[in-house]
Amino acid sequence: MKKLAISALFVLALFASCASTKNSTRDITKEVIFDEYFTGATLRYDFHHGGNSTQEYYTFDAVKREGKWAGSRQALINPFEYGEQHFRIVDEKSGKTIYKNNYCTLFNEWQTTEEAARVSRSYPEGVIFPEPKENFRIEIYARNQKTKKMEMLHSHSISVKDYNIRPFSAAHENIDIHIGGAIENSLDIVLLPDGFTAVEKDKFLASCLMWSNALFSYSPFDNNRHRINIRAVWAPSPQSGISEPGHGKWVNTILGSRFFTFGSERYQMVEDFQRVRDLAACAPYESIFILTNTDKYGGGGIYNFYGLGSAGKTGRTGEVYVHEFGHSLMGLGDEYVEVGNTVSALYPKGKEPWEPNLTTFVNFESKWKSMIDKNTPIPTPFDQSMLSELQENLVLGAYEGGGYLEKGIYRPTPQCMMNQLRDFCPVCQKAIQEYLDYICK
Ligand SMILES: [Zn+2]
Repeated sequence: MKKLAISALFVLALFASCASTKNSTRDITKEVIFDEYFTGATLRYDFHHGGNSTQEYYTFDAVKREGKWAGSRQALINPFEYGEQHFRIVDEKSGKTIYKNNYCTLFNEWQTTEEAARVSRSYPEGVIFPEPKENFRIEIYARNQKTKKMEMLHSHSISVKDYNIRPFSAAHENIDIHIGGAIENSLDIVLLPDGFTAVEKDKFLASCLMWSNALFSYSPFDNNRHRINIRAVWAPSPQSGISEPGHGKWVNTILGSRFFTFGSERYQMVEDFQRVRDLAACAPYESIFILTNTDKYGGGGIYNFYGLGSAGKTGRTGEVYVHEFGHSLMGLGDEYVEVGNTVSALYPKGKEPWEPNLTTFVNFESKWKSMIDKNTPIPTPFDQSMLSELQENLVLGAYEGGGYLEKGIYRPTPQCMMNQLRDFCPVCQKAIQEYLDYICK
């Protein structure tokens, strides 16, 4: 349900400056030897991400030293062009980029709301990276919404001897749910509870098992069990349940999850990402998913930020978990259409989306064009009424509609986990497999 609140509401005019070619990722070498540059611990850079519909800026908060680095020791420069933001860690002495990762934020979704045209606000955020041995600089880049190119908006030099770097000590236990391999060669997922009181631990752990079972019931996650780890952090909330501000219901929970994010009832998210990172750091992790103690339908997922789903909902809970995880793990786009929706700030005309499973044909060669049979017409004709009869036989093509829009944007198949909660389409499966192959190096 990433972005579900957005498309109907918006107008967009984010940033207006020109793109700079010096910020291209092509200037980054991919060869970084981990032991040469990093201590093996994790550092976290906390900041506030603020602005309004036309501006964004970053203000420094704190640097924290967390536990052992759970990411790859070889996959240090994320080569994918996914995300609305990325950050780089630059070795001050040599000027070499020694780490780069991509992500999206709740702030950038908020920027497209009507509220952002009237008022400025900020959200707490933070990024993690392996701790450098020598003095370094962090650079944060955001995508210019007109040009879709990345521009550096924040730079901060940090001394590794700075006594203000705070140590972190885990305040909560972590519990193994599924262990596939060593942390440096595996995707490490942490499941966090919100709205479960001290007497509801068993209920949370049962939800974690269900989450794990749901994930491994879909390809290609089923074939990658041996390099996926899932751990839970147990942290009780003072009160049971989840806030529903639109119904006058506020619940005191450890993460503060809430429905009615950006005015959309089912958009259930956490606004304070630093609280999320504080809990996640109690386990070795790279990817975060929050399970909330409610049976109300809703959730969300933001690339390399976090995913969130209701733990108490019966029925299609497992599918919703996996759909949201598709967003939060690697930024898969929503392949569904919102009827009557013709304009979206997220997918402007004339720009190729960065999501691997959507195209505007501006650069279809960079997407799944080569996977399509040469006898399949592009765009691929499709009659919605055929869906139920032909769902098993629908060929890979480029079907109009996706990213909430009816026209001008194309998806690989009529049905997919990112659309109707079915199996992932071949394009999404390939993209997930490539992403896992990279982060599990
Ligand atoms: Zn798909």
